[in-house]
Amino acid sequence: MVQKHIGILGGGQLGRMLIQKGLDWNIPFSVLDPDPHAPCSRLAPFTCGSLTDYETVMRFGEPCDILTIEIENVNTRALKALAQQGKQVFPQPEVIECIQDKRTQKKFFVDHGIPTSDYILTANREDVTRQADFLPAVNKLGREGYDGRGVQILRTPSDLSKAFDSPGLLEKLVDIDKEISVIVARNGNGDVRAFPAVEMVFHPEANLVDFLISPAELPEEISLRAEAIAVELISEFRMVGILAVEMFVTLSGGILVNEVAPRPHNSGHQTIEGNVTSQYEQHLRAILNLPLGDTAVRYPSAMVNLLGEPGHQGEARYLGLEGVLDIPGVYVHLYGKKNTKPFRKMGHVTVVDRDVESLRKKATFVKNTLKVVAWPNQS
Ligand code: ADP
Repeated sequence: MVQKHIGILGGGQLGRMLIQKGLDWNIPFSVLDPDPHAPCSRLAPFTCGSLTDYETVMRFGEPCDILTIEIENVNTRALKALAQQGKQVFPQPEVIECIQDKRTQKKFFVDHGIPTSDYILTANREDVTRQADFLPAVNKLGREGYDGRGVQILRTPSDLSKAFDSPGLLEKLVDIDKEISVIVARNGNGDVRAFPAVEMVFHPEANLVDFLISPAELPEEISLRAEAIAVELISEFRMVGILAVEMFVTLSGGILVNEVAPRPHNSGHQTIEGNVTSQYEQHLRAILNLPLGDTAVRYPSAMVNLLGEPGHQGEARYLGLEGVLDIPGVYVHLYGKKNTKPFRKMGHVTVVDRDVESLRKKATFVKNTLKVVAWPNQS
């Protein structure tokens, strides 16, 4: 295998799992992250520095052959300059730039005929308050909102006063039946391959994602349509790497693209054990312009995120590990984060089982049993 040196912008769990796979292929990595204790910090040569500072990114990129990302909030001007110097930058900086802002992302979908909810661009709060006729709607910040921050529902005119006071958008509130995700890869030759859709299973009362299930339980026609949309999107972007496409299946059976991420994604963790090729291997195959791997499901799987318990802050301790490891088909992944805080992503667990009922039961057991807390006296 050609020994290309890959620089990863971002040293979190996604980078960590990418490196874990890349080590099997003797790939030399370097990592840039502002946190000296980032999950990748002890896995590869590590530079502690800002991902958004031009000079820092330029210096980091200098010795690398290929640059990739595990987070979108990076300095794309530096990545463009590095690409001009002959470095391979995947995903391409132009794609990252488009996706960094939900407004340009949405415009890209519409301009390229990708189904998505109707929307209006808004500059500030005052702008939103003029849109009472557009309600009920979802108000989103254009930049730097993630994991539900920067997203709020505005149902009635009295909600308008809490609108975000920064550039963003208003989207029509969609009647969601299911939230699904399709991860799709494209290599330098332009070969494209999608993973089967996965589904977020919500807690019936709490309205929080309980776990993710793969493959999604959908009529075949809808699954195939979702895959086709993801293939079309990555082809329209002409991007190299992997793209996670989050979609809504509506109550009337339509599919609308919500947002995309041009990197390994939380909705693809279960591919490590559940699919023939993992999303991490697929990303490496794509950016190294190797043949893309088989995406087929090997086993139905469920993925449970291990989040820091509310009320706990400090050095992390994992309760219930033995009980969980006693179950066949359970794979625990901890991310090497020293300290926990409420809802911090500390790890995930994948469960595989040929029987889908038993799979759901096991995932629920894992969710209720394995807890991330702080050592006493630290809360
Ligand atoms: P983030 O980038 O923070 O993940 P999203 O755009 O994915 O934000 O929105 C977070 C959640 O809000 C989605 O998973 C979905 O449940 C809900 N949501 C987002 N947009 C809409 C919409 N147009 N209609 C209904 N619900 C929505």
